[in-house]
Amino acid sequence: MKALRFYGPGDVRLDEVPRPDPRPGDVLVQVEVALTDGTDAKAFRRGHPVLLGDPPSLFGHEFCGVDVATGRRVVAANSAPCGRCGACRRGQETLCENLLPLLNGAYAEFLLVPERIARVNLHPVPDRLPSTVAAMVEPLACCLHGVERAGVGPGDTVAILGLGPIGLMLCASVKDAGGRPVAVGGRAERRELAPLFGAQPGDGDRADIVIEAAGTAEAWRDAIELVRPGGTVLFFGGRELAVDTYRLHYEELTLRGAFHHTPRDVRAALAFLASRAYPWERLVTHEVGLDGVAQLLAEPPRDLLKAAVRP
Ligand SMILES: [Zn+2]
Repeated sequence: MKALRFYGPGDVRLDEVPRPDPRPGDVLVQVEVALTDGTDAKAFRRGHPVLLGDPPSLFGHEFCGVDVATGRRVVAANSAPCGRCGACRRGQETLCENLLPLLNGAYAEFLLVPERIARVNLHPVPDRLPSTVAAMVEPLACCLHGVERAGVGPGDTVAILGLGPIGLMLCASVKDAGGRPVAVGGRAERRELAPLFGAQPGDGDRADIVIEAAGTAEAWRDAIELVRPGGTVLFFGGRELAVDTYRLHYEELTLRGAFHHTPRDVRAALAFLASRAYPWERLVTHEVGLDGVAQLLAEPPRDLLKAAVRP
């Protein structure tokens, strides 16, 4: 079968590899559509210590396809908690000590979903839900987890920095949690999309909660400056950051992080997509074959949100 493999930063190749051979409990999926995302783009540019193993490594993790054994359309998350480690027993499944390796290989004709993920985090796709929309289950699950970590409650003003696919999904997730999402910054064409996902463009100043989804040091600083005294800042990505502990101390700010998703988030995300409450399909702006992924990641079109990759 054809599979896209990562060899090093900027170097992905379309290879002919053996079709995976499922063992009992594994599910072999014929990929109908995979979606590009920001994590893939980041991994393409500089490698990724967690996401990708030793090169050449399979690549891509958002997908919808057909379970070869049953003919059902399915989606799956890219991991599943073990349910036995200390973190899992505390209910902190995103911190599971056995989460790795994450599932990769959606940019291929077939993808093997290992037994644990198949058992915990693989779901049949509701009949009328388009595959390209169903394939967003993993990033949307991350957003739902983030909104829960941020403690969004009814009436909270929630500034969202970054209006990529994650930012827009966060807007919808905040709105559904009863919050008032404010889309901060972003290019004009992205700000026009924000209302479709329940948000109003604004400056976000003195928001109750600020969620950073831009992934830049500037946005991390802005997030801490914008939040009101007593408010919460949620970081969706991270590196090193100098923090003004004056505000942290005197204004009792709360800084939190959010990573990944729980099985409950995955189920909720699939139901949320199936509800069609928001025009999720607007998040897919491009379509390519497996041979077009490298070019797309190397030189992302300006208007790219997510691309549908059809093997
Ligand atoms: Zn665990």
